[in-house]
Amino acid sequence: MKLESAMSTVMDVRSAYIRTRWAFVDGAGMVPLLSSLGATDEDFERLKLVSDQLESDPTLPFRRSRNGRFCLDPKTRRGYRLEPQPFVLSREEDFVRHDSETLRRFVEVQDDLQHNTALQALLVFQFLVVNDVDIARRPRLDYDRAEWICTLFNLRTVTTPGLLGEPALEGVHSDGVDHTMTTFLGSRNMTGDSAATFLHDMAEVNGNRWNEADPALVRGRVQHRDFLDTLLLVDHEYKHSVSPVHQIDDAEPALRDMLIFFTRKPAEQGHVSFRYDSVAPHRTLPLSFDIPAAVPAIALVN
Ligand code: FE
Repeated sequence: MKLESAMSTVMDVRSAYIRTRWAFVDGAGMVPLLSSLGATDEDFERLKLVSDQLESDPTLPFRRSRNGRFCLDPKTRRGYRLEPQPFVLSREEDFVRHDSETLRRFVEVQDDLQHNTALQALLVFQFLVVNDVDIARRPRLDYDRAEWICTLFNLRTVTTPGLLGEPALEGVHSDGVDHTMTTFLGSRNMTGDSAATFLHDMAEVNGNRWNEADPALVRGRVQHRDFLDTLLLVDHEYKHSVSPVHQIDDAEPALRDMLIFFTRKPAEQGHVSFRYDSVAPHRTLPLSFDIPAAVPAIALVN
């Protein structure tokens, strides 16, 4: 796919996103798109294996994780790695769990992931879809700032006979951001009915289990099945929930590997993340990459 035709596909996704406030692109569609944005075949293969390097999660026993923060700046058309900060989500942001309001420190994403051209293409892809889209605004985020702060999570959910892996233990929730993107990397020994994602009307009650939610308030259902299947949603316009990961064979753990992109405007004073929202570059894991400017001006009109 040429860059021009990739950009026109990105703009189609963007139009769908503006219209319905969420979009799902299957892996078969993502591969040529990301290739046109610079992803190499070798890096697609490396991306499938990167989750083998994850570490224990700070608060969830069935999860392995890493995170890293990135700034995407429309003015300079550059993305860069940000210095690490503790991570926190609050009840006020529609995230109700035992570790709401708790400062969490994740093991950091390393060069194997951040220098992966497919990962960088995913960051650019989300930016091109969401930048300048008019959305329901969250309190105490600074919408006058041009730049986006993206907290990337690489997560592996693990189910064993003694421990059920829950991609969203918190039940119905939001991620406290403006735009959420979730990309499937792979699974092992996972049943076909595992890990369905439900989109709920904002009227749904936080914390309800995925199967307790009011069917009349379900606005969408998707399932990530293939490498690079990707969901994008306006995080303050839909809540979401995810069903658990189940094993096919009890003798082996079931694994599900994902990339999650939490993208929002910088926080203002009074926001739970205000003190943990530095835009200083990372000193020991530097990264900087271009954001192609090949977006036709007309496509930016909502
Ligand atoms: Fe979520």
